[in-house]
Amino acid sequence: MDCIFCKIVSGEIPSSKIYEDEKVLAFLDINPANKGHCIVIPKEHYENIFDISDDALKEIIAAVKKTASAVNKAANCDGINILQNNNKAAGQLVSHIHFHIIPRFENDEVNFSYKPGKYLEGEINEMREKILVNITGN
Ligand code: 5GP
Ligand code: ZN
Repeated sequence: MDCIFCKIVSGEIPSSKIYEDEKVLAFLDINPANKGHCIVIPKEHYENIFDISDDALKEIIAAVKKTASAVNKAANCDGINILQNNNKAAGQLVSHIHFHIIPRFENDEVNFSYKPGKYLEGEINEMREKILVNITGN
C-alpha cells in the first residue's frame, strides 16, 4: 500500500521517533505548526476514526497523552492542541489515522478559527434526533 505513514512504520521513510511500543508510533511532524508538533499513529493501517477498532484507539489515546505530556514540558509551551482530521474536507492529507499534538504559545500564528454559526428555531432538536438514531452502543 502506498501510505507514507506505513512507510515510516516499516522504516522505509526515516522519521524522528519519540515514542514506540508494539502498537503505536509517535514522531515529529516534518512541517510543524510550531516546533515540537508531533504525530501519533497506530502501526497498523486504519484510514480514519470510522474504521479503527475501539481497542486500537484506546492504545493510541494513551500514547497521545504520554506524548502530549512530554511535548508540553519539552516545548515549554502555554497550551497544546490535539487534532485529528477525518477525510479530505476536514483537512486529512495522509489517509492513515493520526493525532496531531501541537504546542501552542500565547499570540502564536497558528490558527484553527471558525465563525460560530447559529441554529434556527427547532434545528438543534432536529439535529439531535438525527444523531440519536445513529448512536450505536458498541
Ligand atoms: P493531515 O493533514 O493528514 O491531518 O496531516 C498530515 C501531517 O503529516 C502533516 O502535518 C504533515 O506535515 C505530516 N507529514 C506528511 N508527510 C510526512 C513525512 O514524511 N514525515 C513526517 N514526519 N511528517 C509528515
Ligand atoms: Zn498506512
